[in-house]
This record gives sequence, C-alpha cells and structure tokens, in this order.
Amino acid sequence: MTISERPWHKLYPPEIFTSTEYDKRPLHEFLEESAVLYGEKKALYFMGKELSFKEVLNQTRKLSAYLQDLGLEKGDRVSIMLPNSPQSVIAYYSVLMAGGVVVQTNPLYMQRELEYQISDSEAKMIICLDDFFPRAAAVKGKTELEHIIVTEVKDYLPFPKNIIYPFLKKKQSRLLVKAEQGADTHLWNHIMDVSDGEVHPVEVDAENDLALLQYTGGTTGFPKGVMLTHYNLVVNTQMSVNWLYKCEKGRETVLAILPFFHVYGMTSVMNLSIMMGTKMILMPKFEPEDVLRVIEKQRPTLFPGAPTIYIALLNHPHLKKYDLSSIEACLSGSAPLPVEVQQRFEEVTGGRLVEGYGLTETSPVTHSNFIWGNRVSGSIGVPWPDTDAKIMKIDENEEAEIGEIGEIAVKGPQVMKGYWKKPEETTQVLSEDGWFRTGDMGYMNEEGYFFIVDRKKDMIIAGGFNIYPREVEEVLYEHEAIQEAVVVGVPDPYRGETVKAFIVKKQGSEISDEELDAFCRKNMAAYKVPRIYEFRKALPKTAVGKILRRTLIEEEKRKQEGS
Ligand code: AMP
Repeated sequence: MTISERPWHKLYPPEIFTSTEYDKRPLHEFLEESAVLYGEKKALYFMGKELSFKEVLNQTRKLSAYLQDLGLEKGDRVSIMLPNSPQSVIAYYSVLMAGGVVVQTNPLYMQRELEYQISDSEAKMIICLDDFFPRAAAVKGKTELEHIIVTEVKDYLPFPKNIIYPFLKKKQSRLLVKAEQGADTHLWNHIMDVSDGEVHPVEVDAENDLALLQYTGGTTGFPKGVMLTHYNLVVNTQMSVNWLYKCEKGRETVLAILPFFHVYGMTSVMNLSIMMGTKMILMPKFEPEDVLRVIEKQRPTLFPGAPTIYIALLNHPHLKKYDLSSIEACLSGSAPLPVEVQQRFEEVTGGRLVEGYGLTETSPVTHSNFIWGNRVSGSIGVPWPDTDAKIMKIDENEEAEIGEIGEIAVKGPQVMKGYWKKPEETTQVLSEDGWFRTGDMGYMNEEGYFFIVDRKKDMIIAGGFNIYPREVEEVLYEHEAIQEAVVVGVPDPYRGETVKAFIVKKQGSEISDEELDAFCRKNMAAYKVPRIYEFRKALPKTAVGKILRRTLIEEEKRKQEGS
C-alpha cells in the first residue's frame, strides 16, 4: 500500500470532509466576521471579567490604528510577549490587521534570548506586560526595536482601578514616568483612550504574505523563525473546525490554558475560538487547582492540552472535589499521551480525550485520532483532511514499507513557507515538491494509523541496540507510583550510551531503584531497561508542558565533562 491510496480516508466518518476549499482571506477577517455574527456574545473570560466579540474587535481596531500611526508598515514584524490575557488576543489581531507579522515571544525569555529573537526577526515594536518592560527596554538600544507598548494585568481586571490593588498604583506611576521620558514607550490604557480606531486597509495576499514568525527549535537546537502565511493558519483552523464537526458555532466554551505564544494554543484555541464564536476562558498560567475550580464554575466544553497538564490534574489531591462533567472533547498534543492517562481522564470527565500530532512548521496539526469515531490508543491518529503523510527510510529518499520504522514526512496546505533567513536549513527539511521531513520516527499500520516511536535524535544506541525512549517511558507510566518519567541516553564507556530514567513520583508514593528495575525487567527486553534512575521533584518543561528531554541530556553531558 502506498501513500497515494490514502488508506486512512476509509476511516473518516461521513461528517468529516476529506478535502475542502479553504478561505484565501486574511486571518483577522474572521474576527470581523464573528463580531457581526456574535456581537454581544462573550468572546473572552479573564479572572472574572468578560469581553464580547464586538468589544474585542473595537479594541483591536484601536490598537491596530495606533500601530499604523506609529509607522507600522506591511510586513513589519511586531513581537508579542504576553501570557494568555485579553491583551494577547487583541494584540495578535491588531498586528495582523495593521499589515504586520506577529513574532510570538515566550514570556520566560531572559534578556539574551529576547535580544536574539528581536535581532533575528528585526522586529520594530514589542507589545509586552509591564513585568517584562525592563527586558524589552534593555534590548531596545541593541536591536532595531523602535517602540514598546506596555500593558498591565490590571488593565483587564473587573475591579475599579487602584481600589482592590492600591499597590499597583505605584507601579503604574513608575511606568508613566518611563513613558513620559521617551516617546517610544506607550501605555495600553492610553492607546485605548486616544486611538480613533481608523485602520487603513492593507491588501493581503493570504497565500503568500506572512502572518507569523514562530520560533522553534527550543527543544532541539538553536531557535529558527518558522514563516507561516495567513493561508497556512486559516487552513489549519478550518481543518480543526471540520474535525470538530459535533461542535456548534457560537455554542462552545474552551479552556484556554495552552499558551497563545506557542503555535498549538494559538491555532487550536485562539484562532479556532475566534472563527467558531467560542468563548475562551483565559488562564495566564497553569495552577492545577485554579484550573479545576474554573472548569467547575465556567463549564468549558473543550479542553485542548498536553499530557503533562492532564496528568497534573489527575494527580491533584482535591480532584474528586470538583465537577468536570462539562468537558466533552479534548485534543492532546505536543508529546505522547500515555494510554493510562487517556483512560483515567475520560472516566473522570465523561468526555473524550484523543491524541493528535503536529509541529510549529505545520501550523501545527497534521494528524489526530477521531474524537467521536474510531481511535487507536497509543497512536497519533490519521492524517487530517488534505494532508498527506508517509514514512521515509532513515536518511534515504525512499518510502518505507507498512509497519517499518522511519522518518515521518508530511505534505499539505498547512506546511510552512520555510525558515526565516535560513534557506539551507529550509531545503534540508522541505523538498521542492512540498514534503516536509518532521525529524520524528514512526510507522504506519495497514489501516493508515500512524505511531510515533520517538524523535530521530532521541534514539538511544546502547551496546549496538536501538532503544526508543517512548517505549521505555510507556512502561514506566504504567507503574502506579510514577507521575512522570523521561528516558534519555547518557554516555557510557562500555555500551556507548546507557539508558537513564528521570522519575517524578506521585505524591505520597515510594519506590526504590530495585523495585523499578524488577518491574521493567518484567515488561521489556533487558537491553532497554534503565541502568540509572534519578528521582526529581519536577522535570524541566516547555511552555506547553512538553518535557525538555534535551535539557536533561545536556545536563548529563556537562556532568560527565566535569567529572
Ligand atoms: P513543536 O514544534 O514545539 O510543536 O514541537 C513539535 C514536536 O513535538 C514534534 O516534532 C514531535 O516530536 C512532538 N510531538 C507533538 N505531538 C506529539 C505526539 N502526540 N506524540 C509524540 N510527540 C509529539
């Protein structure tokens, strides 16, 4: 069987179209459309305050017009350094409406990382939270940054200013002083007061004009700006709408815990909600008990997340206190979803939790299981509509057989234009005929389901045997004392590499190396069994909760070099 037969199409329920015409319109037009369709309906909920679709559009127009007045021209890059908040949604659509290109900046970036991103993207402006203002101000003189737009969390709190938060008054006045010092610092509240919201229309060629420079490579290498067009993002959002066929436009509520500065939260939560008239419950950071409380009170129906998020909730000591029955559909991405976690989460909520897959370079989703139809636990599912996928023999330009492990390659209208200013890196992964090599290792079964065994670079070679950490981790997750586990290869003078497992135990559980060893030996071939265990309180993670395997590998290398 070959890719051209697209065996997975036979599995599609009739409600999902295998192929669709996607809108060749700029992304921000969907906000304008929703403001007409849903008007006073609430678009955002943030710490007790709500904003309607109309209000979001009005404020977007104000900021957009202001950016144009500051000199923003078509194609100019603007960094957005904000946690999930009304400002993060408004800023995003404002930049697009003004003709700009959004550069999403991780709020955790320290000055060095920020400086790299601002210089590489040549961003002219940054929109940030007041807490990050010192970092933005520090890189201004060293880059092409011209303007800093500053906002505060309290700009959108429901309480009268300076009554509930008197201490913030002092902070505000410090900022005002700063703003008065330079004509290049602008306060959000001031913009909302003075802007006339008259945006000069910008002609957008959706298929070719960039909407986004999304930096990636954090877990694997040096950050590269992925160039995504308006069309890439519209397509992937419309594919999601197609996939979520049971969801009604204007009815759903989504828990927006995935950060919008990562492509997954940006497309699968923010853009999807704006397009579907869905209310977003904005969560600026992940505090498990806050999430449980908000689910009970706000009753979201959709909850896109990552395995670590679901795991943390399931292991929360007060889980049983909360009613999570509003949840109907969850798509888990970013990392493998342990089967155990999927089953328990479904029992607790009564909703469906399925695994999907994607990358920054693909806007992001390329595969997923069917939410209401057939699904295979442990698989990333099947390619999405209009998306092709195949397995390539490792380091060869030939397609692998069914069931054979190789590198997953994908092709579709959601695949990036390339890496910003990096043509060589682009040609290494993207062929002229549009196939993108993902760097992930997996296989396809007869039916057309895809399985990830690991990332190409994560494969451990110990004593001549190939070991895929995913396999070992799956076994470890089955142990009742384990909350999180990650397996890496560490240098070993005898075996080349050896397998090391980092473990986070469940609260109140105890387990020794010996017990784990016996458990693993029972469940896997001897060469795969970890030789070293290290117990930790927490594991390093990315913003979307993916465990940073690379950080642990680097730590191990440094330890060896130091010894
Ligand atoms: P990012 O560009 O940050 O979205 O990371 C993309 C990478 O996340 C992929 O190349 C995969 O290695 C990993 N990934 C995403 N979804 C899954 C999944 N369901 N299972 C395993 N790895 C995944």
